[in-house]
This record gives sequence, C-alpha cells and structure tokens, in this order.
Amino acid sequence: MAGSHETFDIVVIGAGPVGLSFAASLARSQLKVAVVEQQPLERLANPAFDGREIALTNASIAILRELGAWDAIPASDKSPLQGARVLNGSSPFTLRFDSPSRSREPLGILVPNCRIRDALFKIIRLQDHAQLLCGHAVVHATNSHEGAVITLSDGRQLAARLLVAADSRLSATRDLLGIGADINQLGKSMLICRVRHERLHHQIAVEWFDHHQTIAMLPLTQGVSSLLLTLPSNQADKLIAFDDDLFLKELTDRCRGRLGKMSLASTRHSYALVTTWAHKFCAPSAALVGDAAIGMHPVTAHGFNIGISGQKQLSNGILTACRDRRDIGDPDLLHKYESCLRLSAAPLYHATNILIGLYSGEHPAARVARHVGLRFAQYLPFVRHGISAMLTR
Ligand SMILES: Cc1cc2nc3c(=O)[nH]c(=O)nc-3n(C[C@H](O)[C@H](O)[C@H](O)COP(=O)(O)OP(=O)(O)OC[C@H]3O[C@@H](n4cnc5c(N)ncnc54)[C@H](O)[C@@H]3O)c2cc1C
Repeated sequence: MAGSHETFDIVVIGAGPVGLSFAASLARSQLKVAVVEQQPLERLANPAFDGREIALTNASIAILRELGAWDAIPASDKSPLQGARVLNGSSPFTLRFDSPSRSREPLGILVPNCRIRDALFKIIRLQDHAQLLCGHAVVHATNSHEGAVITLSDGRQLAARLLVAADSRLSATRDLLGIGADINQLGKSMLICRVRHERLHHQIAVEWFDHHQTIAMLPLTQGVSSLLLTLPSNQADKLIAFDDDLFLKELTDRCRGRLGKMSLASTRHSYALVTTWAHKFCAPSAALVGDAAIGMHPVTAHGFNIGISGQKQLSNGILTACRDRRDIGDPDLLHKYESCLRLSAAPLYHATNILIGLYSGEHPAARVARHVGLRFAQYLPFVRHGISAMLTR
C-alpha cells in the first residue's frame, strides 16, 4: 500500500454494537485495528438512551460474557423475559410462547442498547490493539485483492489488509464497495418510550397486532415497560410532535387500558422501519457485518443477535488464519463467512418479512390468514416450542 497512508491490518467502519464487538473479538491477536466512527468520542463514551431495549438470546449473552462486556452491564439494566404473548386485533385468543425448558431459564434478557454500546466501548478503550478514530465519516474507499484504502471526511487516508463495514443498514461503505442491497422502506415508523404503569407485567412481553397499528410491550423493571407503537410514518410523525400529556393520552387510548394507568418514564424515540439484505457480504479485502449486511425488522428482535453471532464467525476465521500464519484477507475465508451467515440468517429474515406482511395487512384475506395462523400455531406445540427454542438459541 502507498507510503503516506496510516496502515492497519483491519479497519472497521462504525463503532456500533457490532463493530465494537468485532474489534473486541480480535483482542487475542497481534492485529493492528482501527475503528472509524462518525460520532464524536464524547457521544460514544456516554451513549444516550435511544429507546431500544435489545432482547438478547443466550448465545449473544455468552459472546458478550466472553468479551467481558456482560459483567460490565449493571444488573439493574438486565430484565428477564419469561414469556411472550401474541394478540390479534380484538380477538380474545392469545398465542403463548414460554421457555422450552422447565428450568425457568428466561427466553432472553432485555438490555438497553446504550448499555451494550457503553460496555463494549469501555472494553475497546482499554485494549492496545485497537485505535478509535472518532468524529469522521468514511467518504471514499477502494479495494482490491491486495488491500483497501479508506478516505475519511478530514482527508486522512487509512490503508488496511481488510476493511470491515459495520456502518448500519444504510451503510455508505457498502455503497462505496459497489455492493448492492435489497432495501425495503416499509413506510412505517416505530415510536418507543418507557412507561410506568399500574398493572403487573410478570416479565411477559406482549405483541399485539391490532388494526392499523402494532403495539409491543416489553417488560423491564417492576411496573415499567418499554412501549413500541408501529404506525404509518405520517401518523407517527404527528404523534411524536405532540406534547408529553397529549402523547401519553394517545398511547393510553391506543393501549385500551392493558397496562392500567400509565405515565411516561423516558424520552421518546422514533425509528423509520427499513429492512435490508446485502447482495454480497464480502468483496476483495472487505466484509460486511451487522446491519450493514442484514438489517432485520425489529419485530422478531433479532438484528443484533444475528450481527453479534456473524461478527464472531468472521473474527474466529481471522484468529484461526493468524494462528496458522495465513492471510486475513484470504477470499476463501471471506466467502466461508458469507455462506455461513447467509445460511444461518436467511430463514429468520424471510420468515420475519412474511410475518410482517401477514400481520400488518388490512386486507380481509390477511385478517383471516392471521387468525387461522395463530390457532394453527397454538395447537401444534412443536411450532411454538420450535419458535421458543429459536428465540433462546
Ligand atoms: C426499535 C429497534 C428495536 C430493536 N430491538 C432489537 C432487539 O430486541 N434484539 C436485537 O437483536 N436487535 C434489535 N434491534 C436491531 C439492533 O438495534 C441492530 O441490529 C444493531 O444496532 C446493529 O448494530 P450495528 O453495529 O450493525 O449498527 P448500528 O447500531 O446502526 O451502528 C452503526 C454505527 O456506524 C456509524 N456510522 C454510520 N455511517 C458511518 C460512516 N460513513 N462512517 C463512520 N461511521 C459511520 C454510526 O454512527 C453508528 O455508530 C432493534 C432495532 C430497532 C430500530
């Protein structure tokens, strides 16, 4: 690579939870790693609450534990999920998901996204092998089988044997690498806030596919839930602009008293819903991880879970190559990562998209299909147990 470039073994673009996990996974190597993040360092060091409560599977918790991040998250920020209930409109029928084992092991643990970011950031800051370059976006990238060169918004150039894009579902790096993606703008937005409420949640999540809206209630501490309301984006934009009192009244009306009397317990956040599936997860001397590769719909709560397991597959391949003194940009290594991730994530990605189509459709045929679908699932225990096992995996 040209001499005036700052040179690294690996440059990771994006210090989100997946980019940070990936960089932390390489701590056991001698590799020189740079993590480029467009946000300023102070914002990464003190990540603000962003409304997301990430439902972590046992496998993701095990990876976070291995990285040293799990124990750094305060116990008060970990809320067990003992079960989930799916409701359809005003039907009294409920589809129930409980932990498949009798061990009372939770289906998952809910942790605020900002706490995961915070724990991983602290780990990276303490590691010598990784350097954080904050406050600058990537504006240009070139890649070949020999390596990659990245230009930052301040004009600095970085050369690397491997470029790893972890810069979200609308990844600019993916575009710069010439990798296309199926990007599905759903025209809906998810409003999220924490609410304090009268009724007990018993650590059970509720997903309620109602007419023209979907409401999810995620149980946090006693008497506190995260409320997620999905609406067409134009309606969501109007609602988020309401003052707190009007916003709360609207939420209370829409929840039809399910949680009893409610009050706001956090700031409110809105996310436009977009799903993405990159056409390729690797290119010469480059790979995509996290949402840059696969941006899941949040309804099945699996985006980060897939991202963290994908980064582990890639980092394991790289650590093995280092141990065997092989090239970390070897196309076979990158293609193996790509095919493993594609195989493991495609069923859930496509099943989630079918579920969204079925549950957000207002056509009478869609209503009948979801009614039948719920009952079908309820009376076929292997379907429910299979889904529970998949969620806890
Ligand atoms: C409402 C909601 C609820 C969710 N709930 C769950 C859940 O329960 N369970 C679950 O597993 N997943 C959940 N997800 C998905 C999860 O949040 C994402 O999968 C996860 O954040 C992806 O992490 P990431 O690091 O790949 O990307 P991101 O979190 O998007 O981070 C990308 C980083 O890259 C930086 N960046 C972007 N562009 C550039 C650039 N050009 N140059 C430099 N830096 C750049 C950004 O500033 C950011 O820090 C949810 C998502 C949403 C929206």
